[in-house]
Parts: sequence; C-alpha cells; structure tokens
Amino acid sequence: MNSGIKKALVIGGGFSGMTAALQLSRNGLAVDLVEIDAGWRSYGAGISLHGSTLRVLNQLGLLDRFLEEGFATDGVHMRGPDDAVVARIPTPRVAGPEIPGGGAIMRPALARILSEAVRASSTNVRLGITFTDIAEDAEGVTVTFTDGTSDRYDLVVGADGLYSATRQTVFPDAPRPRFIGQAVWRAVLPCPEGIETVTMWMGPKLKAGMNRVTKDTVYLFLTEDRPENTHVPPESFTATLRALLEQFASPILRKVAAELSDGHQIIYRPLEQLLLPRPWHKGRTVLIGDAVHATTPHLAAGACIGIEDAMVLAEEIAQGEDLSASLTAFEDRRWERCRMVVENSGRLADIEVNGGSREEHAAIMQVSMKTLTEAI
Ligand SMILES: Cc1cc2nc3c(=O)[nH]c(=O)nc-3n(C[C@H](O)[C@H](O)[C@H](O)COP(=O)(O)OP(=O)(O)OC[C@H]3O[C@@H](n4cnc5c(N)ncnc54)[C@H](O)[C@@H]3O)c2cc1C
Repeated sequence: MNSGIKKALVIGGGFSGMTAALQLSRNGLAVDLVEIDAGWRSYGAGISLHGSTLRVLNQLGLLDRFLEEGFATDGVHMRGPDDAVVARIPTPRVAGPEIPGGGAIMRPALARILSEAVRASSTNVRLGITFTDIAEDAEGVTVTFTDGTSDRYDLVVGADGLYSATRQTVFPDAPRPRFIGQAVWRAVLPCPEGIETVTMWMGPKLKAGMNRVTKDTVYLFLTEDRPENTHVPPESFTATLRALLEQFASPILRKVAAELSDGHQIIYRPLEQLLLPRPWHKGRTVLIGDAVHATTPHLAAGACIGIEDAMVLAEEIAQGEDLSASLTAFEDRRWERCRMVVENSGRLADIEVNGGSREEHAAIMQVSMKTLTEAI
C-alpha cells in the first residue's frame, strides 16, 4: 500500500459494497461498512451470474460456497414463443475448465455467502445506520453518522445502489434513474422438465426466461411493456403473471401458468436505468455498482459489473501511489465495460418495446456476453 490509504468507509452492504469491504480489508485496510437496513436483508428471486462473476467468486475463495447453494450450467438456449430452440449462445468456461460458463442462485443465498465472508474479515460492520455528512479536507474525510458518531477516513466508497444518497451528496446534479417502459415479473418454481440451462422464450411482445437456482428449482422472469410506472396491487400478481404466460404457445410455459400459485414468491419490478457520466469520484469519495451504473436486467449483468468494480477498485488502491491516480485508473478500467452493459441492455429493451429487429437483438446478446468474458 503505497498511497497512504489506510482506512476506508463503504456505504451500502449490497453485492458491490460487500465485495469492496471484503477485498479492501483483505488488502490490509481498516474498513467500516455501514448498511442502512438493520436486518441486512436481501430480497428477490434468483440472480443469474455470468462466468465472469464465477471467476470473481473463485478469486474471492467463495466459488465452492456458490456451487453448494446455487447451480452452474453452460450456454443459453433461445426459443421462439413455442418450445423450439432457435439459437444456442455459448458461455465459455472463464472461471476454469471444470466450472460451467454461468450460473444462478437465490439472492438471499448469495448475500449470505458474501456477508459471512465480510463478517469473517476484519471489516467493522455497522447495521441500521447511514451517513448524515461527508466533509473532506486536505488530509482526509470526516463522516458523520445518523447515530451521532463521526470518524475519519482516507477513502469513502459509495455502494448504496440506484437511489444512492452518496451520489446525491457528491454529485447533486447527477441524472436521476429513468423508467424504461418495461417491468419484469419473477417467480421461483420447481424446475420444469426439459430446462437444462438458461432458457429464454421470445414472444411477439413478451420475453420469458428460466434459470436454475438449485438442482430442482428455477427462477422465472418475464418482461412486459408498461408505458406508465403505475402501482400494481400484490393481490393481482398471480393472475396477471398467469395471463402473461398464457400468451406463449410453449407447453412448458403453459404448464407453469396452470400451476402458478401465490406460494411461488412472485415479484413485480418496474425497470429503471442510470449511467453516471465520468467522473465517478470526487476527491476521496468514489461510487461503484448501481450507484453509478444501474442497468436493466436484459443481460443479467448488473451485479456482475458491481462486484467487478469492487475487485478493480481494491486492486488499483493496493498498487497505486496516489489516490487520485488510483481512482482515475479504476474508472479507466471500468467505464467502457459498464457503459456497454447499461447501453446494450437499454437497446435490448428498446427493441423489445418497439418490436425491432430480432437479428439485432440476438447479435447484441451474443456480442455483449462475449465481451463480458474478457479479463477485467
Ligand atoms: C429485476 C432485476 C433483475 C436483475 N437480475 C440480475 C441478474 O440476473 N444478474 C445480475 O448480475 N444482475 C441483475 N440485476 C442487477 C442487480 O440486482 C444489481 O445490479 C445489483 O444488485 C447492484 O448491487 P449494488 O450493491 O450496487 O446495489 P444494491 O443491491 O442496491 O445495494 C445497495 C445497498 O446499500 C444499502 N443502502 C442504500 N442506501 C443506503 C444509505 N444511504 N446508507 C447505507 N446503506 C444504504 C441498501 O440497503 C443495499 O443493501 C437485476 C436487477 C433487477 C432490477
């Protein structure tokens, strides 16, 4: 550690913040992590992970835990509105020859794996609090917290997600998240017969998909156009998702529709997007993850790029001689990849909403997934 960075604060204990705390503390920094949710809960159905995320989990020494609790498979099968496979997208084995090219896991399981590793590190985890003020001077940053305490830091990492208060504080003129005119439905189901790997069905207007989160269960996702971001009452979730699934000719999806019940953890989520133009840091405060590049899930890569941000940031801090140069080097390594994910995901959404070219959709998927396999 040549840059004199000894103590860091990570704001936000999601996938990006947990990974940052873990790597910075493993690199010898004293790390405080503050998480606003006193229960440090993680919501949601499954999360798909690219081979590049499995590669990071391997680097973190957590891949075996992932393989115990999640599921890994090779390739993506694209189907039409019926069950005919129209394309097979390869997912190279970037985490190692023995490790399939992608996977999925229940979100709370991934959060537990990471939070246990953070707890086992030297990170000081403080739950149920956040900051009220970040004041930088020539020697460091004084951060004041909602419990009335304050502390000094050499580095502040804002990893507090789409509606980041850190971003709002450091870059008050930053763009706001934008609703993209689509929403996604998700549910957790027993794995239907015939689903070997990530499988997507492209209907005339709707897109559905499944990914195995364990040997016996899948999470289902279905994107739907929603011109307005209006409230959808939870009591209507099962009937609405069933009606959407019934629009596909696929016998697999029709069977799922028939069997769908309130017990399948159905979640509805309007989709928003945000890409903060560079810089992503000001002085000693840097933003990572959804706080700077919140993508829609069309490439299932938001968590992937947030986790990668954390790894690259820790690496640049460890090898840099000057904090400003390290943070610029971090951005240089991250900008293009993260821009690609947010903008290509947005383009996929546009094509789906406006009935655009299927060929362009398939080409963007292939090229983006290939790019994500490249080294970070
Ligand atoms: C519907 C949907 C499906 C998705 N599917 C996938 C997928 O399959 N694969 C994939 O890779 N990505 C997926 N993503 C993207 C992925 O969920 C996000 O990119 C990822 O969770 C971002 O992690 P993060 O840690 O940056 O932010 P968050 O997950 O938002 O974490 C932020 C954390 O900060 C805390 N926090 C917030 N404000 C404060 C504050 N002021 N002080 C302290 N703490 C605070 C929050 O409680 C939270 O714990 C999907 C996203 C959506 C919307």
